[in-house]
Amino acid sequence: MSKKYDTPLLDELKKGVFPSFVVEMEKAAARSDMAADLLGQVELSYKEKLTHWKHGGIVGVRGYGSGVIGRYSDIPDKFPGVAHFHTVRINAPSGFYYTSNALREIMDLWDKYGSGMTNMHGSTGDMILLGTRSENLEPLFAEVSSRGWDLGGSGSAVRTPSCCLGMSRCEWSNIDSQAITYDITQHYQDEMHRPAFPYKFKFKIAGCAVDCIASIARADMSVIGTWRDKIRVDQNEVKNYASKMDIKAEVVDLCPTGCITYTGGELTIDDSNCSRCMNCIARMTKALRPGVEKGATILLGSKAPIVTGALMSWVIVPFMKMEPPYDEFYELVDKIWEWWDENGKNRERIGELIERLTFPRFLKDVGIEPHPAMVKEPRRDPFFFWSEEDIKR
Ligand code: SF4
Repeated sequence: MSKKYDTPLLDELKKGVFPSFVVEMEKAAARSDMAADLLGQVELSYKEKLTHWKHGGIVGVRGYGSGVIGRYSDIPDKFPGVAHFHTVRINAPSGFYYTSNALREIMDLWDKYGSGMTNMHGSTGDMILLGTRSENLEPLFAEVSSRGWDLGGSGSAVRTPSCCLGMSRCEWSNIDSQAITYDITQHYQDEMHRPAFPYKFKFKIAGCAVDCIASIARADMSVIGTWRDKIRVDQNEVKNYASKMDIKAEVVDLCPTGCITYTGGELTIDDSNCSRCMNCIARMTKALRPGVEKGATILLGSKAPIVTGALMSWVIVPFMKMEPPYDEFYELVDKIWEWWDENGKNRERIGELIERLTFPRFLKDVGIEPHPAMVKEPRRDPFFFWSEEDIKR
């Protein structure tokens, strides 16, 4: 099919080794004027090095203050298909499990009311439906919600909580991250749909410190599964590993707290100094297992670089039992929000507020006891760049 616009700059983006979003947009453009005009406008933006999106007033659905992000073209005469191009966030299920029927249902609705293009998933965790008109929002929402779906969070609100696959696929998960995510979502419905905070607040829940959801770099509050007692060691399996790997180099020397010794074919762990990082367990999955007394470490304050640079989370509670009805957890969250609400400036994330007023002040005001696991300042850089040498090894 012939293209509506020439897009030489976008065509360049189809040449790399990775799948290109331009290819997907072109597929959508074959069926949708919105997608076709989007290609034209994006090409023009690349050429002029100028965005042609503008924000223009609040858009949304009745009863909700969030879930729809308004977007308009500033050159609608040229590209009428994207005169309105609002984004709709759909609350994704915990762990991103869908049946194919459920996905078809949403995609059929999106073909009917929107551009047919999606972003699976946005970094907040929602299913992101890209591009619809204002007058389509209410009928879309009526159909979506009548099928049991709901909108996600946006703006200065609780954002849609998200988690790793947890116990559904991973035997190392120390907490039921999916059940906790569902409970938080239900508990904070009002805070998610009706923005009332200084800025956004994200929860991410990981089953263990491997942190497959990257909560420690991306969530205002991370809940990371851990254990309080001792790592369980199977010495017979340790012997099996000894013939397959260099235990000293790959496990003992990489323990960040240096609390493992390996002598006479036996592995010993000084659990009082273990930081529960999961490195040794992930490398010797048959020989080592987390302890049996499970719970979570609660961390606070990470965010992407927008105002004062990237920030990773502080530990605020080294160990908390995470069992329904999660009263201790919700009491803590409510106290933290109250402090943020009283002291936070407009568009100030909780981590930035702690930096501005200091961590000791935060602990004192919120009534949390200091603990050696609370470092003065968390790491700034959430990225690790591999050198060529590392890859060769
Ligand atoms: Fe060391 Fe981490 Fe293993 Fe604890 S979990 S013993 S800190 S490598």
